[in-house]
Amino acid sequence: MPGSLYIVATPIGNLEDITLRAVRILKEADFIAAEDTRHTQKLLSHFDIHKQLTSYHDHNKEEKAPVIISRLLQGQSAALVSDAGTPGISDPGYYLINAAIQENIPVVPIPGPTAAIAALSVSGLPTDAFVFEGFLPPKRSQRLSKLDSLKHERRTIILYEAPHKILKTLLDVREIMGERRVSLSRELTKIHENTLRGNISDIIIAVEDMSSCTAGSDEGPSSKGLSARMRGEITLIIEGLMGEPPPVQAVDPAAIMESLMREKGLSRKAASAEAARITGLSRKEIYNASLKR
Ligand code: SAM
Repeated sequence: MPGSLYIVATPIGNLEDITLRAVRILKEADFIAAEDTRHTQKLLSHFDIHKQLTSYHDHNKEEKAPVIISRLLQGQSAALVSDAGTPGISDPGYYLINAAIQENIPVVPIPGPTAAIAALSVSGLPTDAFVFEGFLPPKRSQRLSKLDSLKHERRTIILYEAPHKILKTLLDVREIMGERRVSLSRELTKIHENTLRGNISDIIIAVEDMSSCTAGSDEGPSSKGLSARMRGEITLIIEGLMGEPPPVQAVDPAAIMESLMREKGLSRKAASAEAARITGLSRKEIYNASLKR
């Protein structure tokens, strides 16, 4: 009989948020697979748990998953933990969980904290239907097209974001999705826990103000100052589209391209690429249409 793989949620900050069952499973499992063994060791020491730890993270998941699976198939039980929250939610848990399911290994949830749900629960935005998008893609063009694909989403949207990118993300969200309510939760369950709620323009001003506090210190008035000020872990909740979606207008891609050249001073080539991103049409088609005009 294979052993079980327990998916153990751990605190996202405050250690009191661990469940009694999580502590028991961490004590009883034959071994614990952890994203960062040093980080998890601190959690285990706090709860007086003495257990063998093995590392399982994004960069070793392909080599480590088969080793863990083989131990499970031999009858050992394992607890999977991530650095914080629920394994598999925007962290490498998915790969191992899927591999265990393929081998008919029992996969057992030990539910507990997750930043997405904690932030949603205090956002004041509708919770009856929501969509979790995790982190936006790293490249700006991909981030913009992801936001574009979400602009007509009616459900509340949950995003994870790094502190040094949050201001840019808020500006992009406003540009693409327009004025709407957001809730920005930082350092939930920790000493500096803080949730800002309001229209996105007000939150942008609040975040900029936090940056100018730092600008007065040794950081200087740079966007680097902002990232230094906005330390901590951030979850952003965005209100879904309210009211009727805007009517679909016939677009003149060549006109869009020409206004980009005029207003942003882009070359014809760069403007056609940007117009292609905005309209979803091919760059060549737009370029040729503009030449014909
Ligand atoms: N598995 C985790 C969970 O269940 O929430 C999420 C892992 S993901 C790699 C880490 C991201 O979660 C952070 O970058 C941040 O966006 C969000 N996060 C984690 N802890 C948080 C906290 N205490 N307050 C706000 N957001 C948090």
